[in-house]
Amino acid sequence: MEVKVIGFWGAYPEKNEATSCYLLKRGDYQLVIDLGSGALSRLQNYINLKDLDAVVLSHFHNDHIADVGSLQYACLVEEQLKQRSNKLPIYSHQKDPQAFQQLTHQATVGRAYQANGSQTIGPFNFTFLATKHPKHCYAMRIELDGLTVVYTADTSYFEELDTFSKGADLLIAETSFYKGMNGKSAGHMTSEEVGRLATKAGVKELWLTHLPHFGDHQQLLSEAAEHFTGKIELAHEGLTWARKD
Ligand SMILES: [Zn+2]
Ligand SMILES: [Zn+2]
Repeated sequence: MEVKVIGFWGAYPEKNEATSCYLLKRGDYQLVIDLGSGALSRLQNYINLKDLDAVVLSHFHNDHIADVGSLQYACLVEEQLKQRSNKLPIYSHQKDPQAFQQLTHQATVGRAYQANGSQTIGPFNFTFLATKHPKHCYAMRIELDGLTVVYTADTSYFEELDTFSKGADLLIAETSFYKGMNGKSAGHMTSEEVGRLATKAGVKELWLTHLPHFGDHQQLLSEAAEHFTGKIELAHEGLTWARKD
């Protein structure tokens, strides 16, 4: 099981980079979680698009879905070139019906995931949890072979995240704000809240992601480390977590 950061910015991508996107692999099976602005281009540094097996979306904010339309065109071209035989499944919740409908296109098919439930996607077992965010959004707990990765998606801190993230081998946590700022009103977390969450959940490793376009990101790291003594990384393209299947 392998997780790789493709895009890590909140809001918009900085030069030559991307907003939210994470590549999840096991053997030949590979999917991406979220597909933000710039992600489709950066993703091709690591895989051929024709080998992508699925997309799983947390919510319909542009910094998580901006490149979905372009991916649909890519799949259509692959289909016409006979490089893709199946329609690419794009999973999301169905709470925004209009947005959900658009996931089905000529060479892609929208699939609803079980909000607040579990389901298998490829070899992975996904569990979803509704977060606290201005748009309907779902955190994901991904389990395989006794390993657990949790992605908070976009959210302000709320207590259920502690149990949802319990014992994760890797916690990928949105860290949109610095210590002392008010994340709650915007539906985001601070470095301090993320550090506390990692400790309460007893996770092994913590990645800070969905990073802000201001301040010094190293400060996010040291603020989170005041509350979590395990390994912490700032997300950047290519950052990889891998464990044996
Ligand atoms: Zn976002
Ligand atoms: Zn959002």
